[in-house]
Amino acid sequence: MQRDKLHILSQNLLQALRKLKMRWLIVALPPLFAFFTAFSTSPDKAPVNVKIRTVVQEVTLPLPVRPLSLDEEFWQIDQVRSDDTLAILFKRMNVRDEDAIKFLTISPEARAINAALLPGHSIEIKTNLEGKLLHLEYEVDKENILVAGLTPQGYQVATQKLLLQKHEMLSSAMIADSLFNATDEAGIPDSVVLQIADIFSGDIDFVEDIHEGDVLNVVYEAYYNAGELMKVGNVLAVEFINGGDKYVAVRYGDAEGKYAYYTPDGKSLHKSFLRSPVEFTRVSSNFSKGRFHPILHHIRAHQGTDFAAPIGTRVKASGDGEVDFIGRKGGYGNVIILKHENSISTIYGHLSRYEIGLHRGQKVAQGDIIGYVGMTGLATGPHLHYEFLQNGMRKDPMTVSLPVNIPIDANLKPEFEKTSHQYMAQLGMLNQRQMASRE
Ligand SMILES: [Zn+2]
Repeated sequence: MQRDKLHILSQNLLQALRKLKMRWLIVALPPLFAFFTAFSTSPDKAPVNVKIRTVVQEVTLPLPVRPLSLDEEFWQIDQVRSDDTLAILFKRMNVRDEDAIKFLTISPEARAINAALLPGHSIEIKTNLEGKLLHLEYEVDKENILVAGLTPQGYQVATQKLLLQKHEMLSSAMIADSLFNATDEAGIPDSVVLQIADIFSGDIDFVEDIHEGDVLNVVYEAYYNAGELMKVGNVLAVEFINGGDKYVAVRYGDAEGKYAYYTPDGKSLHKSFLRSPVEFTRVSSNFSKGRFHPILHHIRAHQGTDFAAPIGTRVKASGDGEVDFIGRKGGYGNVIILKHENSISTIYGHLSRYEIGLHRGQKVAQGDIIGYVGMTGLATGPHLHYEFLQNGMRKDPMTVSLPVNIPIDANLKPEFEKTSHQYMAQLGMLNQRQMASRE
């Protein structure tokens, strides 16, 4: 599945990594633990220029199911905020360790870490259950990390080179019963699926619009160290055959390094409204429609779309706009009304709660979280009641909201086409293979 063409870490790597809005979680990874245990007890044998990233996205590896002991070690990752010092960071990351704090306030090496702290850079720490600091890694810049490890001689600090290999992964999945069953079977990481849902969010609701027989072909980045998958990167190209329609997206960055997704002929995929305002997650994707009975759901003169989702699922502004109303309103329960350009309004009903601080007159951008799914008002089950109105009349957002369709800059077009052709060839190959496997 993986191409043998390896790319050594480029300057774009960390930039790209930072762009990934991934949620990190404490993950215990036995083989890596073995490595770090060795490192912390025999520092002189530690490979100096090998950087092992122990962060794994939440859903790609299950948390180990075993009882906790005081020996358990935990990795956490956080981003440096402005005005952070290591002491503030430690407090936030729940490090309770007098020795570490003493070391960090008096040692010259630690002062180097403090001096290098820059907002947005990531810091990873390993502690045990008691909050003792065992290991710390800080991203100094695109190529270097600062590592502090606890050794029998106390803490030792060193700078290491960051070495990861980037692979382009090609994967294909055909949906039988559920999207995630298909992608799990094909070994496609969840973060890739979530990116794809986001890329096509103007056209496809990945909960409602999924059909048996739909085919997903994708090219994405994966980062390896010593043959082990460390991190999933960006989706580079994707083709989704959905209910007989084909959607294709290619990622392309302009000269300033701004990336966006385009159709193969170079038109932006950005749409002025989302197909679904409900955040797509693994949990919401499996939320059975059976738990919600639309027939029983009656707001007088029902004029909208109901999106079944678990209580608490995040609700996004479907387009750029302004909060026109926020509060309780009859059968709608807790409701938010947004005002957009071209006399368009969108309504979000039955919310369990609103995003903290959201108020009338506030400007919101497409995708901003405004509230949470609930069943307030006249609702027989948890769902979002969504309406799309133009001049007060109900409209189909898919036909009213004109696709933006901004074409790629003319002088970038030749280079874009080269990239696009290459990805289209790869997607075509995946598709052929998928079709062949069905015969
Ligand atoms: Zn409704």
